[in-house]
Amino acid sequence: MSKKIQVTVWNEYRDDQMTGETAAIYPQGLHNAIADFLNRDPDIEAGTSVITDSEQGLSETILDKTDVLVWWGHRYHGEIEDAYVGRVIDRVRRGMGIIFLHSAHESKPFKGLLGTSGHLSWREAGERVRIWQTDPSHPIAAGVPLNFVIEHEEMYSEPFGVPSPESTIFISWYKGGNVFRSGLTFRRDLGKIFYFQPGHETHPNYFNENVQKVITNAVKWAKPELRVESLACPNDKEPLENL
Ligand code: ZN
Repeated sequence: MSKKIQVTVWNEYRDDQMTGETAAIYPQGLHNAIADFLNRDPDIEAGTSVITDSEQGLSETILDKTDVLVWWGHRYHGEIEDAYVGRVIDRVRRGMGIIFLHSAHESKPFKGLLGTSGHLSWREAGERVRIWQTDPSHPIAAGVPLNFVIEHEEMYSEPFGVPSPESTIFISWYKGGNVFRSGLTFRRDLGKIFYFQPGHETHPNYFNENVQKVITNAVKWAKPELRVESLACPNDKEPLENL
């Protein structure tokens, strides 16, 4: 049996998620809800880490054993220490996969890897969204309906401040009239990156079977094909043919 894909679901998980509406929906936190459905897949072994863990949950030990990092953050992006952000970016360049969920579009690793603002416009009205596949043959869309509805989600709108993606897997239409590229892939050096929009903390959308299917597929797509200790830039002094 081949080794399971090792996933770490990272979440801020501070006071604002431990009380009120979010805690009522996700009593063990968003990170545990996400890890729980990932762990139902026989090919995946998912653990969690949070901002209040040592080294903000981003220790070398955790990152070294992680094949795919799943990132959920919203209010505390600015508090993540740059040294740890650098670690994450370095690991992705050396082959670790990363999945940015929902408001992670403003996180330091997202902006650092993509080199753009990550900005978008948003509206917190819990409106209906229809998510359409735009790349039905992509493995991240496998087994997902051509379109599906989420009854209540925060609205995110174009323009989305990202570079041209490798693939646009999903676009979303919101009841208020906005549209958004809601499922995008990128590559940076050896690492694969997926962004997926659903997952506002006051809606139970990580219990939606289609959302779960997309994130599970994305973990399998983003797993490292090749992982190296360092990226080198060697002087290739000896030509293979006579010059
Ligand atoms: Zn949100």
